[in-house]
Formats: sequence, C-alpha cells, structure tokens
Amino acid sequence: MNPNISVVVPLFNEAESLPELYAWIKRVMDTNKFTYEIIFVNDGSTDESWQVIEQLSEKDSNVHGIKFRRNYGKSPALFCGFNAAQGDVVITMDADLQDSPDEIPELYRMITEDGYDLVSGYKQKRYDPLSKTIPTKLFNATARKVSGIKNLHDFNCGLKAYKKAVVKNIEVYGEMHRYIPYLAKNAGFSKIGEKVVQHQARKFGKTKFGGLNRFVNGYLDLLSLWFLNSFGLKPMHVFGFLGTLMFLFGFIAVIIVGAIKLVAICNHTPAPLVTDSPYFYISLTMMILGTQLFVAGFLGELISRNAEGRNNYQIEKEI
Ligand code: UDP
Ligand code: MG
Repeated sequence: MNPNISVVVPLFNEAESLPELYAWIKRVMDTNKFTYEIIFVNDGSTDESWQVIEQLSEKDSNVHGIKFRRNYGKSPALFCGFNAAQGDVVITMDADLQDSPDEIPELYRMITEDGYDLVSGYKQKRYDPLSKTIPTKLFNATARKVSGIKNLHDFNCGLKAYKKAVVKNIEVYGEMHRYIPYLAKNAGFSKIGEKVVQHQARKFGKTKFGGLNRFVNGYLDLLSLWFLNSFGLKPMHVFGFLGTLMFLFGFIAVIIVGAIKLVAICNHTPAPLVTDSPYFYISLTMMILGTQLFVAGFLGELISRNAEGRNNYQIEKEI
C-alpha cells in the first residue's frame, strides 16, 4: 500500500535542524492519521546530517535517506527524491525549518479534494533580508509573464505539494527547481494553485543561495525553458524564420544598391561605387547573418530529430 504522503526534503549541511524537523513532521502526520514516508536527500553534506538521518531511520521505518557522494544542488536532490517517492501526494519542504509542517494537512486536502495537480506555498510575509526579497519579487513577476501561470506569487517556495503523477513526469535538472510549476505546466499539468504559508526566519546555519549570480542564472534558465517549450522540437521555425527575414532585407538592400548603379549608368551620370553606399554593408551583413541563422535552424532540426525525448508525450488515459 502506498502511503498517503511522501515528504521529500533536500538538504545540504542542516544537521542541527533535522531532529526538530522530523519530530514536527511526525507530530503532524500522527495527529492527522496520515500514512507517510519522509525521504531525506542528503546533497553531499559535510556535517553530521547523514549520521542524523541514519539514526532517525533506525528508530522509525517511515524515514528514508538518499546520500549523494558530493554536492550536486537542490534540483538533482529533488529529482532523486521524486524518483523514490511512493506516496499519493508528494510534499517537498526545505530542511531549515523555514517551512512549517503544519501546512501539510491543508496542502494534502487541496490536492486530493480540490483536484489540484500542484499547490505551491506562498510566503506572503517573509523573514528574509531585503536583499533577498526584492530581487525575488522581480524574479516572480518575470516568471509569471514568461510561463503564463498568472496566479503564482512565489515560484521558488520550497514548500509544495504534488499529485504523484506530476513528480513522476517532470525532470528537474540543473537549477530548474525554481521553475517546477512551469515544468509541470509544460508537461500538461495545468491545475496549479497557491496557498499562503507561514514562513520562519532561519534558525540554524545560513542560506545556501547567496550571491547575485543566481539571478543571472535564474533568468537564463527561464529563457532556456521558454525556448525549449516553444521551439525545442521545431528550431527551424524560429531560426529559419529569422534567417529568411534577414536574408530578404539584405536582398532588398542589394537590389537598391544595384538599381542606383544602373540608373546612373543609364543616365550617363558618373556611377557611384557600390562600396560607397551604406546599403551595401547592410546587405552584406544581413545576408551573411541570415544564412547563418538558417543553417543554425537546420542543424537544430537535425539534432532534435535524433533527440532521445522527441517522442515523449504525456498520455493521461488510454482505453
Ligand atoms: N539545498 C540543497 N543543496 C544545495 C543547496 C541547498 O539540498 O546545494 C537545500 C538546503 O539544505 C535547504 C533547501 O535546499 O533545505 C533550501 O536552501 P536554503 O534554505 O539555503 O535557501 P533559502 O531558503 O535561503 O532560499
Ligand atoms: Mg531556507
């Protein structure tokens, strides 16, 4: 029998938080009579996290652990946790006690009764420094626009609940954990909801996601996702179009250059050199770039034709 809930917790150096987190989750599960499993994914911690997980799992058979040999990142940790999860509803949660397990029953209800595919937490009131909350607002506004998921305020919230089918059919890689709702939507799971959740300040340790480059990388990832989803399987449609457009402009410019020359010759006025005309350079550049774009599209097409996942479709039902 599958448990009602799998709680997947990615963690990197969070040994101090784990016993408290475990006790809290257990308390909530027992009070609500859920059957459950907790999957701690130890993402190459260098502290005692793994020993703590081992002790917990010895005492309680609901506790499982996955140990990475080195630190890969939050997305790979989630990916492996998702692979292992067996519960009907899968809940992800950060290990640092910033997310409250008290939210679990309502999240579970929203998935099982309201029929959501995915419910994301929304830390409306955050206990993070301003340097973190302001860029986050900007990030979420962009993600909303690009993904078309207009009702989410907090894409990157660690506390989320999923139908089992969702986590089994998305591939969280690189640093894509920021865009899981978008990944889910692209896989065809469109009933995506939000729940305002309590947020605590970090009690132990410090954040693992500092620095500005995560925003640059975050935007690049968003761009990749958008591109993959729109043109990943038909690169010619974008590159071919742009290439043709450029080539056409170049071609028109070259005709203008030629026409000017011809008219001058016919009128027996001194004909200007072709290289004197700015159109000449414009046409040169445009035609070269246009051809290159076209070739890029063609190469992309050849690659996607051989891509392993080219015929992975999400089939919901067959009778
Ligand atoms: N985490 C992880 N691997 C990493 C970095 C972070 O598994 O390489 C985990 C971390 O232990 C925590 C969660 O991801 O459970 C969120 O990280 P953090 O709390 O540092 O992020 P913040 O809340 O500051 O955005
Ligand atoms: Mg945190």
